[in-house]
This record gives sequence, structure tokens and C-alpha cells, in this order.
Amino acid sequence: MAVDRFEIAPGATIGIIGGGQLGRMTAMAAARLGYRSHIYCPEADCPASQVAAATIAPYEDHRALADFAARVDVVTFEFENIPAESVRVLSRHVPVRPGWRVLETAQDRLLEKPFFNAIDVETAAWRPVLDRAGLEAAVNILGRPSVLKTARFGYDGKGQVKIDETTSLDNAWTEMNGAPAILESFVDFEREISVIVARGLDGAARCFDVVENRHRHHILDQTIAPAAIPPALTRRAEEIALRTAETLELVGLLAVELFVTGDGQLLANEMAPRPHNSGHWTMDACGTSQFEQLVRAVCGLPLGDTRRHSDAVMTNLIGDDINQWLNILGESDACLHIYGKADARPGRKMGHVTRLLPLKIEAAEEN
Ligand code: AMP
Repeated sequence: MAVDRFEIAPGATIGIIGGGQLGRMTAMAAARLGYRSHIYCPEADCPASQVAAATIAPYEDHRALADFAARVDVVTFEFENIPAESVRVLSRHVPVRPGWRVLETAQDRLLEKPFFNAIDVETAAWRPVLDRAGLEAAVNILGRPSVLKTARFGYDGKGQVKIDETTSLDNAWTEMNGAPAILESFVDFEREISVIVARGLDGAARCFDVVENRHRHHILDQTIAPAAIPPALTRRAEEIALRTAETLELVGLLAVELFVTGDGQLLANEMAPRPHNSGHWTMDACGTSQFEQLVRAVCGLPLGDTRRHSDAVMTNLIGDDINQWLNILGESDACLHIYGKADARPGRKMGHVTRLLPLKIEAAEEN
């Protein structure tokens, strides 16, 4: 296929760090465009290894990383918490997209929060907490309720403690296991929304529609597309995502999660430089899915059309929810995705269903 020297054309191999469902769906989107995928992850028989070639090795194994890098034409991520040195090893052999600066910022809340604030994106008030005395000082400033979070490796509410009137600070600090943390003011939000933006090698960027996310037991339960928010708020949320991607010189995909407060403020909570659970609906309701958009961005192809052709409600199938699969197959306008995980443990994301609804055109007027 005729290619520009900056493009990685169909037929090439995309390396994906991480082997979960996000890697699986990226590999499936890549295959549709004629690419091969090769994943790198520590666990054998992970969801992505069922649909792609796989290197099974620890993220710290530099020799395995170098071998992997030699077999692929570009590397991207479905899991961003890998050591800096591992990214450096990969980068010596092959383009890594998104690059280290984006990963580093998103890995660590102690870098992420000041980054948002430095580009004039508001967040909940926060303070770094490095030890027990620091926690006491931070609680004295921010008050209760507040939320203590480990700076790194937190997900689905793990590594998080709400500090209310009766919480013992000794116990809260013990839960951090001595790791650096941050304390945030508790946000009494009206809703949680997210925006996914893709930015290509040429700097062109496109957002998917802003969505609302509802959680159950700290795990995403439903994504509603589009979010029922005023057009002005939608534009502000998109503008925040675009500014974040532009400043970080992102090549790839970035999800930005935001709180909407009762008085219409937007507060950034966190970012993820990879496909995001709140973007799964795009597979069935948009011309280009978030996974295809990632492939396009990291291969230097033009970005696809992100317009939605249907409204959608995506529901995660968590643990035993997956047992509903046969009923869901009988529903019209329900698109079922099963991730190929053998063991339906409580809290484990086993699949999702996107239910399509007729497209509602939002009011165009200023609000
Ligand atoms: P996180 O790991 O930061 O994405 O937090 C997981 C979930 O905890 C969020 O989606 C919110 O529902 C809730 N949460 C996190 N931070 C705060 C906060 N500062 N105030 C209120 N709720 C929060």
C-alpha cells in the first residue's frame, strides 16, 4: 500500500501494552483496518491474548520489552501504569504513542492535579499528603468531608478513603500503606461526565460526545450518551479535553473525567491516556469507535468521524451480571460485548451491553 513516511499503513503490527478488554477491543478494531496486533502483558490467557499475538512477561523485563519492540511498528497502551524505564526501553526501538510525558502525568495524582491547575482547569481543592502529620495538616485546611487517595495505582475506588466527621486519621493513613497520597475536598457533585479526545500525529484533534457516568460501588455502572447538560457546559468540557491533549502534545486517546457541580462548575477529577470504559458506547453508536480512533491516531492516519448516529446507554456487566447474556441477545437494539474472562468474580468487568436509542438532536440555543 502506498504510504507517506510518517504513516504506519495497514499490514503493520501495533504493539499494545496491557492485555485486558481495552487491549482486546483495540486489537479487534485494528484487525478491521488490516493491522496485526501484538500485546504485552504479565498474565497468560488475558482477554486480548485471545485475539492477538502475545508476549507474556513482567513490565520490568527489559529484554522481553526490547524483543517485543522489535516485532511491532508502533506501541500504544491499554494500561498506563508501567515504569518510566520500561517506556524508555521501548522508545529506543519504536515510536511510543502516547509518549512518556502524558503517561507520567496521568500516572500520578501529584502531577496530574497541578497540571490541570496550571492550564486553568479547575479541580477540587487538594493538598499533597506524604505522611501522617501531613494528613492532619491537610484535613485542617480542607476540612471534612474530604477524600484521601493514593497518588498512584488507584482505580475503581481502590486506594481511596472518605474522611468524614468520625473517620480516624490513623486508620485512613494506614490504608495508604505509606505511599504518597493526596487529600481532596469532597465534591457534592450533581453528576459525573467524561470526554474522550483523540489527537493525531498532525495535531488534529476530535472529541466524542460528552457523556454522563453513573457508578455503583465505585465501579462504572452506566454511561449515558449524550450527557443531558446544557450546550455551553458541553463546549466547556470539550474545550478542557482539547486543551489538555494539546498541552501534553498527545498522540493517541485521552479520557478526561469531570464533576459537574450544582452551580454549573466543571472540576477535573482525572485523566486516562488510553481507551476508556466511558467510551465503549462509541463502538455501536458512532461511525468511528474510540478503539478505531486510537489506531488511526497512533498510526498517523486521518482521524475518523466521531458523530453519533444513535443515542446510547452502555451498561457494564459486572461479575454475575454476565449471566444475562442470553436474554440480552434476544433484545432488539442491544449490542452485547463479552470479554472472554473465565471467572466471573464479584466486581470484575466481564462484558458490557450498549442499548441504542433514537438520536435526539440537542437544543442549539445558548444555555
Ligand atoms: P477516582 O479514582 O479519582 O476516579 O474516583 C472514583 C470515584 O470516587 C469518582 O468517580 C467519584 O464518584 C468519587 N470521587 C472521587 N473523588 C471525589 C471527590 N473529591 N469528591 C466526591 N467524590 C469523589
